[in-house]
Amino acid sequence: MTGALKIGQEIEARIRKHAAEAYPHECCGALLGRDDEAGREVLALVPLENQRSDSPRNRFSIAPEDVLQAAGKARDQRIDLIGWYHSHPDHPAEPSDFDREHAWPWYSYIIVRSEAQGTKEMDSWRLANDRASYAKEPIQIGSPEGMAQGR
Ligand SMILES: [Zn+2]
Repeated sequence: MTGALKIGQEIEARIRKHAAEAYPHECCGALLGRDDEAGREVLALVPLENQRSDSPRNRFSIAPEDVLQAAGKARDQRIDLIGWYHSHPDHPAEPSDFDREHAWPWYSYIIVRSEAQGTKEMDSWRLANDRASYAKEPIQIGSPEGMAQGR
């Protein structure tokens, strides 16, 4: 998998803030942005409610209405729904078996480790079209000036 996922500093900070506030529970949300010749870039977030009341600490799931809501917001902003983010409280930022089983190809899945003291590593993952591999996608954090302007 080539290419990096570009994220502005402010977007990165908002993902970390959401993860820290949700701790010790998982947070989750949608990534809106662009995926074109210039690469893939996150331009906006849609924070979502974690729907799982049985085990909010260690698995997230996205309800169909969440997908519709996120896709609608993306349309309003004339950008695309390009992925999802969630936190792993006290666990590495790697996809769990549950994450892998519930992932869709093409989307970027950002995972950030959250702890009582704050957040740790943040990584992005993409499932291959044949679902055979779940590869780490490099994240490129950019300063606001260096990034495309979102609308
Ligand atoms: Zn997970």
